[in-house]
Amino acid sequence: MAIKHLEEYRDAGISNRLMDNIRAAGKTGVRLMEVCGTHTVAIFRSGIRSLLPENISLLSGPGCPVCVTAQGEIDAFIETAKKEDVIITTFGDLLRVPGTSSSLQQARADGADIRIVYSAIDALELARQTTDKTIVFLGVGFETTAPTIAATIAMARQTGVGNFVVFSAHKLVPPALEALASAETVRVDGFLLPGHVSVIIGVNAYRSFFEKYQIPSVVAGFEPVDILQGVETLVAAIAGGSPALGNVYTRAVTDAGNIKAQKRLSEVFAPTDARWRGLGIIPGSGLQIAEAYQMFDAQVRYDIKIADAPEPKGCACGEILTGTKTPPECSLYKKVCTPMAPVGPCMVSSEGTCAAYYRYHV
Ligand code: SF4
Repeated sequence: MAIKHLEEYRDAGISNRLMDNIRAAGKTGVRLMEVCGTHTVAIFRSGIRSLLPENISLLSGPGCPVCVTAQGEIDAFIETAKKEDVIITTFGDLLRVPGTSSSLQQARADGADIRIVYSAIDALELARQTTDKTIVFLGVGFETTAPTIAATIAMARQTGVGNFVVFSAHKLVPPALEALASAETVRVDGFLLPGHVSVIIGVNAYRSFFEKYQIPSVVAGFEPVDILQGVETLVAAIAGGSPALGNVYTRAVTDAGNIKAQKRLSEVFAPTDARWRGLGIIPGSGLQIAEAYQMFDAQVRYDIKIADAPEPKGCACGEILTGTKTPPECSLYKKVCTPMAPVGPCMVSSEGTCAAYYRYHV
């Protein structure tokens, strides 16, 4: 069923039919993981979690970029902010994420120049206007946002802006799926694959993962009917014992993805091993700035090393990001950790699972 028109995305009749099919599949103990933080919030907002039969559990995965940013990376951001003649530019969510002994928000209160921007282009423009400072843009995100950062770096080189650098902490989704599928403590029967990321990388980017692990996986959009279609496809594949890699977000996602964006990504960035909160170091799961663009690499310019740092005491973000715990199973949830006083990033980010539970879960 192709969904093309706006009103159909939330149609009660279509939703009910999909729910009937989901219930009819009837297999017990099905654990599905939505990999994307936007899916987590959309699922809560539309009430889908409460509609699903008890035999189906929806787990949140490592799809919130701020949440998976390792504690050592947060600490390194804060250390960079303390340098002379530096202006840090970042998206708002990162400010309040607690590091080991401070946060960007605290560093700003202590005098560091940290500014919220809405795009990397804003940071580049600031660099053009502020030539006596170096503008460091904190690059946190997945394949969705990385191409625009890559394009901005290329633009900086083309226009000769030398006081603009990027601290790349970007992460890649397919290697994280592999890490989840091979982890002994994680059990997932089907993956709801992220729509936004898939617009860029295409369905083909998941093929080697799927062929290796044979776990039913489907790319889905973010409207209620999109999500229910994804769940329906997964439970049918699981009940029928016929794993498949599918795409129910065909209005936006193709097999090949956005080739232009992929080219830009591979021109400016190169894959590297990266540390994820909850998943540890995953080979080839990060993006570092390629050699040809090293003059725009904050880590090279300031010789920044990312140390291994423990996660906040008592915070279960790591387990939540791998679907092995839910926020109410964290002893700090709602008692000590709230959106006003977050202990971990999963309570800070608007896409964080703890924040979504706090807001929507009764
Ligand atoms: Fe961490 Fe707070 Fe979530 Fe617990 S509720 S896992 S402390 S972010």
